[in-house]
Amino acid sequence: VVEISGLRKSFGQQEVLRGIDLRVARGEVVCVIGPSGSGKSTLLRCVNLLEEPTAGRVVVDGAELTDPEVDLDAARRHIGMVFQQFNLFTHLRVLDNLTVAQRKVLRRDRAEAEAVARRNLDRVGLAEKADAMPAQLSGGQQQRVAIARALSMDPRVMLFDEPTSALDPELVGDVLGVMRGLADEGMTMLVVTHEMQFAREVADRVLFVDDGRVVEQGAPSEVIAAPKEPRTRTFLARVL
Ligand code: ATP
Ligand code: MG
Repeated sequence: VVEISGLRKSFGQQEVLRGIDLRVARGEVVCVIGPSGSGKSTLLRCVNLLEEPTAGRVVVDGAELTDPEVDLDAARRHIGMVFQQFNLFTHLRVLDNLTVAQRKVLRRDRAEAEAVARRNLDRVGLAEKADAMPAQLSGGQQQRVAIARALSMDPRVMLFDEPTSALDPELVGDVLGVMRGLADEGMTMLVVTHEMQFAREVADRVLFVDDGRVVEQGAPSEVIAAPKEPRTRTFLARVL
């Protein structure tokens, strides 16, 4: 579903991604781990061209986003993204947060958009919060709304950038539970996370990124439980 090859990204003189190759197959869950500043968010943002790569190719679901001729809006339509900060529309109630893009981008009528929204709120365990305002929800609930909003666009792949790191510890489990459910349903997912337990249990593959390169990758039982590279070991010793 996602094919990245030779991806490079520089900000001015600083090369943040130094040649990344990554393929995420349909239904695969890939977790990206690595130190702060190693380029994880930049990598994710390059997948939907929120950042424009300096070099390399990004293909999602058959559309090459790095092709200058591509219809970016159309190509992005099926890429869901969830950020550390939930980025909900604070002036809209939950249900409307989920229908805006469906109506604008997918041209769904109100009834259909609301039906899809309610189905996805139910999926994240928040069916009863449709009429609430975002500020009335806990951080964990807001993040689950953000996930439901992304799901309402029928994504073929979901990108998560540290979706739980802004949350109080007691709220992390609910959000990870929803993500685990998505993985079980066969959603294709690329997840930047510091939650090693989640990566260990849910990821099909773990990528350790350092200094803009994939240093080591493989099954969690290899990369997390038995890392080969010294840099992976040093990193894991600090976070585990
Ligand atoms: P963290 O774990 O702290 O979220 P990260 O691995 O996600 O870190 P990135 O956010 O991808 O790291 O940043 C990698 C490097 O690129 C950092 O040195 C950062 O300062 C730099 N960088 C990121 N975005 C920009 C930008 N828009 N302009 C300039 N430099 C940037
Ligand atoms: Mg980041």
